[in-house]
Amino acid sequence: PLRKQLQQPQRHANITSQHPQSHLLKRRDALLPIRKALPIWPHAESIRAALRKNNVLVLTGETGSGKSTQVPQFLFSEKWCTKCIAITQPRRVAAISLARRVAEEMGSLFGSQGPAAQVGYSVRFDNATGPNARVKFLTEGMLLQEMLRDPELGQYSAVVVDEVHERSVNVDLILGFLKNLLEVKSNRRKAPLKIVIMSATADVESLVRFFGNGLQSSENGSQHSGAASRVGNGDDVQSESSWSGILSDEEPTANADSIKASRNDLIQKPLSSLPEATHVSTCFVEGRQYPVKTIYLSEPTQDFVEGALKMIFQIHYKEPLPGDILVFLTGQEIIESLEKLVNEYAQKMEKEVPKLLALPLFAALPQDAQQRIFTPAPHRTRKVILATNIAETSVTVSGVRFVIDCGKSKIKQFRNRLGLESLLVKPISKSAAIQRKGRAGREAPGQCYRLYTEDSYNGLEERTMPEILRCDLSHSILMMKARGVDDVVNFPFLDRPPGEALEKALLQLLHLGALTEIGTISEIGLKMSKLPLTPTLGRILLEAAAPERDCLLEVIDIISALSVETNIFLNLVSEERKEEAEAARRDLYKRAGDHMTLLTTVQRYAEENSDRKAWCERHFVSHRAMQNVMNIRKQLRQQCTQLKLLPPSSISSPTSSMPSESHTQNILHCFLRGFLANTATLMPDGSYRTLMYKQTVAIHPSSVMFGRKTEAIVFSEFVFTTKAWAKGVSAVQNDWVGDIVGKVFGC
Ligand code: ADP
Repeated sequence: PLRKQLQQPQRHANITSQHPQSHLLKRRDALLPIRKALPIWPHAESIRAALRKNNVLVLTGETGSGKSTQVPQFLFSEKWCTKCIAITQPRRVAAISLARRVAEEMGSLFGSQGPAAQVGYSVRFDNATGPNARVKFLTEGMLLQEMLRDPELGQYSAVVVDEVHERSVNVDLILGFLKNLLEVKSNRRKAPLKIVIMSATADVESLVRFFGNGLQSSENGSQHSGAASRVGNGDDVQSESSWSGILSDEEPTANADSIKASRNDLIQKPLSSLPEATHVSTCFVEGRQYPVKTIYLSEPTQDFVEGALKMIFQIHYKEPLPGDILVFLTGQEIIESLEKLVNEYAQKMEKEVPKLLALPLFAALPQDAQQRIFTPAPHRTRKVILATNIAETSVTVSGVRFVIDCGKSKIKQFRNRLGLESLLVKPISKSAAIQRKGRAGREAPGQCYRLYTEDSYNGLEERTMPEILRCDLSHSILMMKARGVDDVVNFPFLDRPPGEALEKALLQLLHLGALTEIGTISEIGLKMSKLPLTPTLGRILLEAAAPERDCLLEVIDIISALSVETNIFLNLVSEERKEEAEAARRDLYKRAGDHMTLLTTVQRYAEENSDRKAWCERHFVSHRAMQNVMNIRKQLRQQCTQLKLLPPSSISSPTSSMPSESHTQNILHCFLRGFLANTATLMPDGSYRTLMYKQTVAIHPSSVMFGRKTEAIVFSEFVFTTKAWAKGVSAVQNDWVGDIVGKVFGC
């Protein structure tokens, strides 16, 4: 028996340590041939050589050529690469799914699966990076946060900035910070930081110029002038064996042409005509592109949901399998309603027709649902992926032969005049339409159905305007100030934002108390910059921590509910159940408005100890969204403890009971403090007009305040559709508003 006992633990050790590992290694080996077939594979050595030689590499290549998944794997065994590699992504969906994929390819665990995980990810409110991570995918916002904590990025050997062509405002900030970092000779860093800039379009020259100008040599700290060195320019390009050479006969094919043109441009230009640049390498990876036929509508349509629905079934009945369909739509709500319609119609199809499997893809989709998109369609089934522009370049799904493009996308637009930012549905640019079309020709010839006319296509803008030229800059400026950039006007912007927008943002930060009168960052501003929230929400949270307000836990509950990307209240309720839903929700409604209604919802959910899912079903509340709310709440509480705004004991303390009237007043005062620009008073004609920019707004039908009149309102969101709507509305009193205005403007 003694021998038996001694043997047993050993048997266990074998099972736990070897079994899962062999399973991972098997998967790694199975994926290797797929990796080797990617267009980027033959470039591995030149990419490594480029970074041995220079600290900056600009890498251009078609979406799907393997940049995001392979580049970190090419680099992590390099001699200079002793620490972690960071790869930024504009979206959380991509950051998480890429981390999972790269872990599989490396035969490693991922995220928080165990301390051995070599691949991690970090997205807002979810950091899953183990102590031994060598590759870490993070959203751009998270890298910016890390740059505030550690300006020299000491934990990384390399930073890979991916999807630069999307030109999100955060990417522009990162590029500026990285440029500053390269120019300052670091005393603390032992080895220089290596930087890879990756893009699916061809704006190489401006990136080379941006990074090359004024860059110092890492060896002797002296100023150099010269030209970008090109990696594998001649040789690599000519020996391009993976390039299929099949191009569409129509318009510039999914930007392969533009990449080629730009490459030739660089190769043929005499060195002296290039901008002053040094220590910047460039590399081009050509993707595969088969011809894609474009089909336009002959007449314009307003209803692209119906148009897409018809087209899906037309393709499904006409075209043989295999061949999945990718539909580009504007947002979650439209995707969910089309998904419902496709499923309804698909059920009525004759038995002999192959099945249809509708799969949504949008930013707020939970992880398991995201992963389903990558699974091949079952036997005799066609996948229909209903996506936002996330599938334009961020996520590549194989098997797609047909693209249906609605020609629109939701974009953020800041209206300087109104001081308000809103999401607007706008026509896409030509370059976005070309990218979308290209998705159909990755593996075989394909077809692209544009739900607009050829004339409309010809009238589209050439390129999508970089976000920095059209968004609220207050968050960016707060980040710059927190990093010690005093002169924001002379910050190295790839594209300089309009002066008016910079001014507006500085003014807003001043009003929020984040900046001092002389424009330096205040104590409050520093705290705001450390919170993963917009400056307004950050200010609201800090206000709630003030002793005279004393409502931090409640405000965290509300902010958590405002921060989830999905709707908390289900709006796809069938006609028969509408009344029942109304009655169940009335139970949660608060007269004070949407913010207090959210607080009640979060508190009731948190108090529910037996079956939270059933509680959600009874109240027509999304369980998925509420799980996210609870997760965000936990993280915000943790961050407040780190900032010493909360005692550590409150991290898991239960929510307080429903606040008294005076407490409600305190809570709404906090929202007024942050949302002063979103405060409107009742006009004699019954409309509401914002206090600061005199914009007329109406209360949105989704608000519990809809149809009610009150002397003043504060709202958390401004949407402009048929008219200007205020969403997330609470009733406030004129004298509270006066109180806050007095404090902010000192009158
Ligand atoms: P790029 O960055 O050049 O757009 P990627 O490295 O993202 O290219 O993609 C390379 C290949 O890996 C693509 O064919 C894509 O289908 C596949 N891939 C990427 N992520 C996943 C995932 N999460 N699951 C399965 N396949 C994936």
